[in-house]
Amino acid sequence: MNAFSLKGNLALVTGGGSGIGLAIARSFIEAGARVVIAGRREAVLQAAAAELGNGASYKVCDLSVLSGLAAFVENIEQEFGPIDILVNNAGINLKKPALEVSDAEFENILQVNLQAVFALSREAVAKMAPRGKGSILLISSMASQYGIPKVVAYTAAKSGVEGITKALAVEWSPLGIRINCIAPGFIETDMSAKALNNDPERKNRVLARTPMQHLGKPEDVGQAAVFLCSQAAKYITGVVLPVDGGNAIGF
Ligand code: NAD
Repeated sequence: MNAFSLKGNLALVTGGGSGIGLAIARSFIEAGARVVIAGRREAVLQAAAAELGNGASYKVCDLSVLSGLAAFVENIEQEFGPIDILVNNAGINLKKPALEVSDAEFENILQVNLQAVFALSREAVAKMAPRGKGSILLISSMASQYGIPKVVAYTAAKSGVEGITKALAVEWSPLGIRINCIAPGFIETDMSAKALNNDPERKNRVLARTPMQHLGKPEDVGQAAVFLCSQAAKYITGVVLPVDGGNAIGF
């Protein structure tokens, strides 16, 4: 069997209704997995699942409500079977000068981008651990590789995501569960459009330090996600893989 195949696997992809999450779901289905996409907006998820076709289902869930996540995982396993792969892709951004960021705003970004990632991973791994196998993928950002102005809360959360990738990898890899992280560069999605399209100076800076000289496509992250979650990466755990056209090492 092809080492890059995900045949026979069930994957849960958060934020799978749009952007990078949708592309990850598409790449997973192409690799043979069944996928449950999760997010807050039912109409968006329904349309995305229909577009993904056979093998795709959706569940509505607001990940910021941490107390609901154990039941959410339980319901998915009841309905679709054991979760083999969890992709913690959902995230929100806040672009604002640090001096204007309130405590409530900071907390909200941490809640969705970091706390929910840990809580959902914990609930999924509670199920995976007795089965002795599973793969967890986290999504960080260039904001954890170098300083970017006006995204202080997002940077704190994404730096935390890279930190817990290592902490969870040392605890959970002995249980047969691999934990890895992708650090996307600047990828064409709604989120990056909001941050870059009305800020040409920022967009020019991004392109100037990206050796490949263009933004990435969501499928670039999707293909890397297939690799990290497949048997082709069976000896890889605790890594942060930039998918960034060289942005993180750009001059
Ligand atoms: P996006 O806005 O298209 O996708 C984010 C998804 O997360 C949406 O589907 C949204 O509904 C979902 N989501 C947000 N809050 C949620 C909540 N409380 N509960 C459930 N779902 C929720 O943006 P994207 O660019 O596709 O981002 C996907 C991930 O990639 C995010 O973690 C983002 O931080 C990260 N990322 C994106 C870029 C980029 O350039 N686009 C770069 C680095 C990292």
